[in-house]
Amino acid sequence: MNNKIHNCIIIGSGPAGYSASIYAARYGLDPIIILGDLPGGQLTNTNYVDNYLGFPHGIDGNQFMDNCRKQAERFNVEILNESVYEVDLCNYIGGIHKIFFGKKKNNLLMSKGVIIATGSTPKCLGIKKERQLLGAGISFCATCDGFFHKGKDIAIVGGGDTALEDAHYLSRICKKVYLLVRKNYFRASKILQNNIIDNDNINVLFQSTISEIIGDNVLKAIKIFNHNTKKYQLKLISGLFIAIGHHPNTNIFKNKLNLNDKGFIIVKNGTTNTNIPGVFAAGDVQDPNYKQAITSAGSGCMAALDLEKYLYSL
Ligand code: NDP
Repeated sequence: MNNKIHNCIIIGSGPAGYSASIYAARYGLDPIIILGDLPGGQLTNTNYVDNYLGFPHGIDGNQFMDNCRKQAERFNVEILNESVYEVDLCNYIGGIHKIFFGKKKNNLLMSKGVIIATGSTPKCLGIKKERQLLGAGISFCATCDGFFHKGKDIAIVGGGDTALEDAHYLSRICKKVYLLVRKNYFRASKILQNNIIDNDNINVLFQSTISEIIGDNVLKAIKIFNHNTKKYQLKLISGLFIAIGHHPNTNIFKNKLNLNDKGFIIVKNGTTNTNIPGVFAAGDVQDPNYKQAITSAGSGCMAALDLEKYLYSL
């Protein structure tokens, strides 16, 4: 048991967590970052990051996160390759928060400040080969991977705002976009529906789901089942974008922090402040809308600044 009271414990190691760690270190807060179950976060599942500012030729997702780690190490951020399984958050100003991590119950860190950057996990269809072909034609991020399918046919699954925004975006890059919606209506807002309704590039297939993903090392095609006609059709596609929502990684914060009805951490407008003093949230875990590496990194920076201000006020 370590009785030291720290200033800054960061939970999660995507762009938000590392960005927070670098800013916190430069503020002299001696941050500790606990990497979590997927060190480096979702970008480690992306082949290529083509839209992050400052990389004119793009960068491999793993390489990018490795660079983030090296940058944090340069500022002597303490890096723990562990996962947090429980938190005990103190609900008064200046209170000490307890972070339990690792498999043994005696792994405890105590801190005046905590930055939560645990990210979110894209929902999966649960179909064979979906995981296998991730990064080999299958993607959860149109903004990240759409460009690789320039001039080709692709499909998107989902009927919400993300799927329709993706369809609109990809229709400008790809030859044909098949939009597979499982119901006979969209969940997306009317304005986004209007954006795609007259788009000749987008072929909306209602009441349709994927029954089979075809391809061994790379995606080749999908088999689609229409629940109305009960018929199957095969579509040869180079890309499949799954846009059926995200689960924020907030299980350990349930009943400890204010979460919205979808489980995202609620932060005060324009800040990273949660409802608990000294606890801040950055990146996808508090962002159901933008979900980009660059916005996550930005909010990681904000969290470190918010924490520094909080500690200074004690
Ligand atoms: P949503 O949860 O809103 O929509 C998910 C969509 O995927 C629904 O159409 C759902 O169908 C479908 N779906 C879920 N599971 C499956 C499955 N297993 N197979 C096939 N289809 C499935 O997620 P989004 O990511 O679209 O949006 C998340 C939040 O972000 C929303 O609040 C949204 O408003 C917001 N957002 C806002 C944007 C904007 O304002 N510009 C842009 C993007 C997102 P069903 O309807 O049948 O459940």
